[in-house]
Amino acid sequence: MSFVFSPLPVVSVPVVGHAERFPVHRIYCVGRNYEEHAKEMGFTGREPPFFFLKPADSLVVVDAGQTGQMPYPSLTHNLHHEIELVVAIGKGGRNISAADASQHIYGYAVGLDMTRRDLQNDMKKQGRPWCIGKAFDHSAPIGPITPATQAGNINAAEISLQINGTDRQRSHLNKLIWSVAETIEHLSQAWELKPGDLIYTGTPEGVSAVVAGDQLVGEVTGLPMLHIRIE
Ligand code: MN
Repeated sequence: MSFVFSPLPVVSVPVVGHAERFPVHRIYCVGRNYEEHAKEMGFTGREPPFFFLKPADSLVVVDAGQTGQMPYPSLTHNLHHEIELVVAIGKGGRNISAADASQHIYGYAVGLDMTRRDLQNDMKKQGRPWCIGKAFDHSAPIGPITPATQAGNINAAEISLQINGTDRQRSHLNKLIWSVAETIEHLSQAWELKPGDLIYTGTPEGVSAVVAGDQLVGEVTGLPMLHIRIE
């Protein structure tokens, strides 16, 4: 097969303990999946999970022990951090039950769902799509993927984000409104999951603005830390 120009390379993420990389298909994100974050955004209760997407090439892929660089994006004056557990899908499917979900998980990583909050809020007010607030270039920093067999009990993990050495977000995965397994059940009813899909599972409370020069360190127990500097 030939192309009218060279296709862009496949976006991929390093895998802990493997030379082979994880090729990325789509990035799904879950909205408002921790109660305290839902409250700080002006909502309460357990609404059905809802989803949005980011382009695969919005990832900022950071190797273990490295600090990734995220350029401060255009058009915003309120760039927010959202620390999240990322689930990497190794086996696709549709209508996957929560009971079967673990068979479809390849591994886990630490991710940041960076958000142009001012633009997202404008779009919300107007009832328009969130794309400009969520799905921009460099909006999805991610660390290496740890295979599920080496990640321990992820549902008991702590999740945290420090900025310039100060705690900004700290919570536990057991506070997810929709667990990883339940999220996969809901998501796979709406889309056919494919190998290479990533799921950003939502952020706990404590979201706030970052500025150029800030150093972000994200952590989920059992996974390599994610280091990002805003440029
Ligand atoms: Mn998020």
